[in-house]
Amino acid sequence: AIDFKWIRDNKEAVAANIKNRKSNANLDLVIQLYDKLLNVQKEVERLRAERNIVANKMKGKLEPSERQKFIEEGKNLKEGLVALEEDLLKLTDELQQEAQCVPNVTHPDVPAGGEDCSVVRKVVGKPREFSFSVKDHVQLGKDLDLFDFDAAAEVSGSKFYYLKNEAVMLEMGLVNWAVSEVMKKGFTPLTTPEIVRSSVVEKCGFQPRGTNTQVYSIEGTDQCLIGTAEIPVGGIHMDSILAESSLPLKYVAFSHCFRTEAGAAGAATRGLYRVHQFSKVEMFILCRPEESDSFHKELIEIEEDLFLSLGLHFKTIDMATEDLGAPAYRKFDIEAWMPGLGRYGEISSASNCTDYQSRRLGIRYRPESSSPTKKGTTQFVHTLNATACAVPRMIVCLLENFQQEDGSVTIPEPLRPFMGGIKVIAPK
Ligand code: AMP
Repeated sequence: AIDFKWIRDNKEAVAANIKNRKSNANLDLVIQLYDKLLNVQKEVERLRAERNIVANKMKGKLEPSERQKFIEEGKNLKEGLVALEEDLLKLTDELQQEAQCVPNVTHPDVPAGGEDCSVVRKVVGKPREFSFSVKDHVQLGKDLDLFDFDAAAEVSGSKFYYLKNEAVMLEMGLVNWAVSEVMKKGFTPLTTPEIVRSSVVEKCGFQPRGTNTQVYSIEGTDQCLIGTAEIPVGGIHMDSILAESSLPLKYVAFSHCFRTEAGAAGAATRGLYRVHQFSKVEMFILCRPEESDSFHKELIEIEEDLFLSLGLHFKTIDMATEDLGAPAYRKFDIEAWMPGLGRYGEISSASNCTDYQSRRLGIRYRPESSSPTKKGTTQFVHTLNATACAVPRMIVCLLENFQQEDGSVTIPEPLRPFMGGIKVIAPK
């Protein structure tokens, strides 16, 4: 339930927001389609009322010629109605498609502009100083026999990989560690379907269609591979009314993620940094609107605690308007230092999507009678999502940051119990 009326009534603010976020939403078309829809709805109602009048007239005693006249009239009205109702369906669909692109409103503290305008809110640690020349993760992987990119390129294509030996333990250890740590904070663990309906992808604010899409669609079906567990977790409560007492709902979900990475040419593509398929542990919260800002902070703190406990050096960044995408009201990314790549790289992202996804997915709650202002009327929940552990980027960080002069890599303490006690990955 996108609020078309609100969009039209707040045209100037919505237009400014679209501009600020460099969104390609077509506001004029949305408003035009909405006005047209209202007119057609009115006409449909008028014809229905007329048809009722005719039907009532036919209930009385009538001359045969008069009866025939009303039958004709009724038939014409019905034909008109059928055509208009078809128009209405088409218009609704078109309006929905266009309005789907209108971005969420923006938190007042979000810096305006492009990537350079994003603001670092926190820095943890500092880059490790090396007394030897560092290798990047691709070289480390080669020397320690951890990956096979060549076979993956033959079997699947570029930007795929096999993990081997300790890297497999590292992937499974990272997933188990992240899920266990987040469960300790009261989150419910989930694994999810990794194929979902395209309509659910759209309702979460992603674009499954078009040439520049990040989404893999399955030919001949209306289904897609998920780009993130946010989609199936967002969908788990769609079209439902939750009890206020059940909120907040907090999930930590493991899934594989599939991304076309269309338009990523030129971006860092070496090794594991940007791949088509990866494992990720994702946090997701559904809550009352008044609580979403504080849950956003909580999610960012959980991320920071996780990365701090591994001993990473990172920055937490308040992303500028042009980098928010459509669903986020506010988004904080964390970028960690990757010494082999010689730069910071994004390892996580935490978004407060307010009611953007819940309106489209139809997730409401019924406030309890203790809140007199809202008593009885259902409200949309707010949804938030945040990365607990995106495995390949974490492997890049761990290998590059914890490499030793003898070519081995030390495993951070917290991960060891989840990796069968492996303390170090040494050359074979
Ligand atoms: P996003 O859902 O786009 O916010 O991504 C969440 C996290 O997944 C990012 O912060 C990255 O750490 C990681 N990630 C995103 N895309 C890729 C990719 N193509 N390959 C590897 N990791 C990725």
